[in-house]
Amino acid sequence: MKITGIETYPVRIPLKPARRMISALGQHVESKFLIVRVLTDAGIEGVGEATVTPRWSGETVWGAQSMVDRVLAPAVIGLDPHDIEGLERQMERFCIHNWFAKSAIEMACWDIQGKAAGKPVYELLGGACRPLAIRCRFSIGAYPPERTRQRATELIAEGFTTLKVKVGTKPAEDIERVRIVREVAGPGPDMVIDANCGWDAATAIAACKELEDCNVGLFEQPTPDGDYAAIAEVRRSIKPLVMADDMCFNLVHAKELIRNEGCDVISIYPGKNGGIHRSKVIVEYAAQHGIACSIGSNLEWDIGTAAMCHLAVACPNLQLEKFPGDILGPDYHEFSIAKNPLSIKGPIVTITDRPGLGVDVDWDVIKKNLI
Ligand SMILES: [Mg+2]
Repeated sequence: MKITGIETYPVRIPLKPARRMISALGQHVESKFLIVRVLTDAGIEGVGEATVTPRWSGETVWGAQSMVDRVLAPAVIGLDPHDIEGLERQMERFCIHNWFAKSAIEMACWDIQGKAAGKPVYELLGGACRPLAIRCRFSIGAYPPERTRQRATELIAEGFTTLKVKVGTKPAEDIERVRIVREVAGPGPDMVIDANCGWDAATAIAACKELEDCNVGLFEQPTPDGDYAAIAEVRRSIKPLVMADDMCFNLVHAKELIRNEGCDVISIYPGKNGGIHRSKVIVEYAAQHGIACSIGSNLEWDIGTAAMCHLAVACPNLQLEKFPGDILGPDYHEFSIAKNPLSIKGPIVTITDRPGLGVDVDWDVIKKNLI
């Protein structure tokens, strides 16, 4: 089988007002995605999604479209979509970084493989090692006190047992927000904080000391991208476990994190890590070194979310029972791009055993929302 063409669709989708996210990186009120359609000479097509957020990954929907149209598509047309490592090598020859753009093509190739074999992607990755229904955590944005209280109350009522709170802005306001969530949640639910690179080591350590009575279990990305010494210093100095997210895009980053003893957990997702296969390589490397992995989010739409779920279902070291991921992206958006949206009920997202990624894209919705 050969790839014969790649079509790109840049789209814009608003977030539900109640779900608009505020973090150390600013406000997220709408998502822009590049949807990629990979065509083959067998008449089987696959779909992929580049979940681009410039302030997070440096990629834009226009940049991703141009990269795919002008650089990556010409490089991979003619390749067999079954040869994922060949595809990776070829994309690498022509383009450094741009993980989300590359991942869109790569996940589409897995979708094609699954459709050709009549198997869901998780089967192609080695088979299911956990149920197709996955329990997630919920992220509470860096909201003011009243909105924080209201959201925390709603989330507990919806059945969430792990709550993540965005910090990394002004420490006094962040600490107050975490206190409010713990007060509303009571002592039971697990609590995660995420600074999205927003603090230096001293601020992160001081904030953790002040929050000792809030029983925070996990501190996600306390310090800036690229600073392995800072995250290691935080890890040595605080009680909560430390998770690396915004600084781990590839295997080299994962190796440096582990070499520097910078984290207990690495947050993985196919978009950020350049595809499903590259994510699996990092998850397996981490497993060999006793480091757990979880799944993070850039507020993916249905295709990106399905890719995350297939990976999670197939990788034992994606320890989502202990460290629930954020696999709820479609639920943040005002509408779905799928004719068969993923089931998301409260904290539980469920994929099906349909072939490929299992997402039937509604191309009319895509075409109506083109940028
Ligand atoms: Mg994160």
